[in-house]
Amino acid sequence: MENRETLLKIENLNVYFKTENGRIQAVKDVSFEIGKGELVALVGESGCGKSITSLSIMGLTPRNCQVEAGSISLGGQELTAMSPDELRKLRGKDMAMIFQEPLTSLNPLFTIGYQLTETIRIHNQIGKKEAKERAIDLLKKVEIPRPESILKEYPNALSGGMRQRVMIAIAMANNPTLLIADEPTTALDVTIQAQILRLMRQLMKEYSASILFITHDLGVVAEIADRVIVMYAGQIVEQGEVFSLFRQPLHPYTQGLMSSTIKINQSDEILGTINGVVPNLSSMPEGCRFHPRCPYAREDCRKNMPELNTVTENRYVRCLHWNELGGEQNG
Ligand code: SF4
Repeated sequence: MENRETLLKIENLNVYFKTENGRIQAVKDVSFEIGKGELVALVGESGCGKSITSLSIMGLTPRNCQVEAGSISLGGQELTAMSPDELRKLRGKDMAMIFQEPLTSLNPLFTIGYQLTETIRIHNQIGKKEAKERAIDLLKKVEIPRPESILKEYPNALSGGMRQRVMIAIAMANNPTLLIADEPTTALDVTIQAQILRLMRQLMKEYSASILFITHDLGVVAEIADRVIVMYAGQIVEQGEVFSLFRQPLHPYTQGLMSSTIKINQSDEILGTINGVVPNLSSMPEGCRFHPRCPYAREDCRKNMPELNTVTENRYVRCLHWNELGGEQNG
């Protein structure tokens, strides 16, 4: 992380699901930081622990989840020490989240205007008229045409792209320092996706916010991220500045994601060319969790769990043989 002041710092995050057959671990010893004004992409196939990591930061994990973190601190505030009520106050103000499908967050029974102005008024002592003015201003910022009439619409009347813009407006309504975006463009077509990504970058600068951007799509990462964290089977397997990671991916999993992206050119099937599937949480392989799918796996990989090795400053990889494999040069 290039000399930025730290905004979010996660140390030793462990997350478990309680099941009929006991606890199973979904996230194991995850630690990372996000700097002020930095956009960090969290990458991996579904089931790798990306979304549950972000929900743990927000304090929004499902009931059957147990979060055991050494520390999650946001702007110096320790979130693990906060009561549910204190966390609720923080959400929507200091940190906000947008999801892949805005309809899961927007209430179909209330107008856009009601939902936006209520979000503003929860955290600010202002009247309805001033909240409406701010709402119109926010809709203009997310480049929604005719904002006054959109305020009167219900979510179902809007297109997917417009709904995502409304969600971004709601998320930014109280100038959060951290925005978590979970696959926010996956459901959109490529043109709209590009517009939303450009908008998010623009707003991030304007509001001096930091973004944790969760995606399975390395094409999107290349376009938007400053730094990349790759997760596999609940662990961080590689981390680095976007340019360095794309130029020379060191972990065989990152190399697989990368060559799949290049081969199939950003189609939804980009992850299809890595053999096998992400292991089930209840039956993690011994040793390196990637070994059943790794083309370079050796005997020791089946027995020994690799540590996250420091390669250079800001560059980390979890592989027993990374320095022998060398990584692929991708331009
Ligand atoms: Fe592959 Fe072994 Fe490295 Fe795991 S430790 S990624 S199995 S080479």
